[in-house]
Amino acid sequence: MNNGPDPRELEPDTKPGSDAPCVRWRAIQARIARAAAEAGRDLASVRLLAVSKTFGPGAVRDIAACGQAEFGENYLQEALGKQAALAGLPLVWHFIGPIQSNKTRSIAENFAWVHSVDRLKVAERLSAQRPPGLPPLQLCIEVNVSGEASKGGVAAAELPALADAVAKLPGLQLRGLMAIPAPTPDTGAQRAAFRQVRELFDGLRVRGHALDTLSMGMSADLEAAILEGATIVRVGTALFGERNYLG
Ligand SMILES: *Cc1c(COP(=O)(O)O)cnc(C)c1O
Repeated sequence: MNNGPDPRELEPDTKPGSDAPCVRWRAIQARIARAAAEAGRDLASVRLLAVSKTFGPGAVRDIAACGQAEFGENYLQEALGKQAALAGLPLVWHFIGPIQSNKTRSIAENFAWVHSVDRLKVAERLSAQRPPGLPPLQLCIEVNVSGEASKGGVAAAELPALADAVAKLPGLQLRGLMAIPAPTPDTGAQRAAFRQVRELFDGLRVRGHALDTLSMGMSADLEAAILEGATIVRVGTALFGERNYLG
């Protein structure tokens, strides 16, 4: 298995105003299709979440024009600005960044999905603050399978109790798990980490949770994730280009 095309090969080589964003978008869709075929999976069982953090509304609009509806954001204020600028488009917004308790209300009010819940207090606040007129917030619990203490995500040992508690909250619908394994160029190691997430997911299903979502795989490792059962891959760099963090 290889890692697919180097994203740098996909940088626009044509004039501004060309369809370069859609060339990149189609290249990602082709990587997803190849990996799904290799895994013997139905292409419709895997979808792309476009991770637009640090890119402005114009870049989101360009990718939306290719046929992309679902976008993932990590930083609340930045995301709210883009949502306001693009309010006329039928986009579905996913919050995928670390969640501070004092930001839950705005997340509950402005997103359809949250992938990064790793503690009950945050889930309880999101549930209580979800506006009654909206469908339940679609939720993934983030698990930490790399054992890095500095990273987000609940430890595997604490996952079943957290899932049981989250599943009872009325403002939320627990859909599955999200993970960001430690980056490695070794595709065997990538697959081993994603397999651990899949096994935790299978365990929760055996426990009685009706889950259908495994959010795992990014620009560099989406093939490995799809081979291990990912249903949402979250792709930023390969779609929008390199990010420039300003602080
Ligand atoms: C930034 C980010 C991504 C996208 O990563 P790329 O390597 O740029 O594709 C995916 N998931 C999360 C949670 C992120 O923060």
